[in-house]
Amino acid sequence: MSVTVRVPAKVNVQLAVGGARPDGFHDLANVFLAVGLYDEVTATPADELRITCEGPDAGQVPLDRTNLAARAAIALAARHGLAPDVHLHIAKDIPVAGGMAGGSADAAGALLACDTLWGTNAARDELLDICAELGSDVPFSLVGGAALGTGRGERLRALEVGGTFHWVFAVADGGLSTPAVYGEFDRLSEGAGVPEPVASQELLDALAKGDAAALAATVSNDLQPAALSLFPSLTDTLDAGRAAGALAALVSGSGPTTAFLTRDADAAEAVAQALLASGTCRTARVAPSPAPGATVL
Ligand code: ATP
Repeated sequence: MSVTVRVPAKVNVQLAVGGARPDGFHDLANVFLAVGLYDEVTATPADELRITCEGPDAGQVPLDRTNLAARAAIALAARHGLAPDVHLHIAKDIPVAGGMAGGSADAAGALLACDTLWGTNAARDELLDICAELGSDVPFSLVGGAALGTGRGERLRALEVGGTFHWVFAVADGGLSTPAVYGEFDRLSEGAGVPEPVASQELLDALAKGDAAALAATVSNDLQPAALSLFPSLTDTLDAGRAAGALAALVSGSGPTTAFLTRDADAAEAVAQALLASGTCRTARVAPSPAPGATVL
């Protein structure tokens, strides 16, 4: 018997970052939107914990116990006095180290798959607690939809979304490490006062209305200057998407994936074609949003 769980990627339509806290983390006002690019995690009983991965970026995914999916299985098993003897297979379609929370998605997927396979039937709050221990973005991967994350981003409030938003994601050649991008943010903001991160009411209203033009006017990412500083060629990708008619162009999370909001599905196809033709990215993917959170198939 096997259990397969499908889990979405995310884009941050607002990522407001506060100054570094004494513990090194940053307070955030993080508006997450789940998008229709998915990893699938399949859990099958095994003699010992084993991870396998398939997909175009599979070679970059660790297959040992540092894999976030493995850590999720170990955390759930420990709480229930079980041995984490499971084979986790990850069918990976979310870009690796791309700022789209692919590892977090796999953690949430593995957690739900193991909970189902082992019959541990953890309450939603217990699953969310384990997710928060595993990483700031993991709780959102479990719940999907749209949510405002505060604290390190792990305290979530679900948000209303009044329509479908059509995105294009340009996948860069290479990755960016999230800690390195935060380090560059700290360097660039040194000496300057960093304001308290606050969610934009205009942006929340645009999401609730399903108004793409209004959302485009309000998206923001405080990590973008740091990501561009470490990966300057992303400026060319952003320019190419804007020139192709995207309503908004921004770095996704810590990058280097760039995100383009478009008017409708046809515009998304046109922007994706133009981005591919521009030669400024490795590949371009269209995806609608919001997408559901981790779901047992
Ligand atoms: P985020 O948007 O949450 O900052 P990201 O999308 O930039 O994350 P990930 O794809 O989650 O980045 O991977 C970051 C690093 O985590 C990878 O380079 C890899 O070494 C490690 N990692 C651990 N587990 C996984 C996993 N299941 N899938 C991908 N990467 C993983």
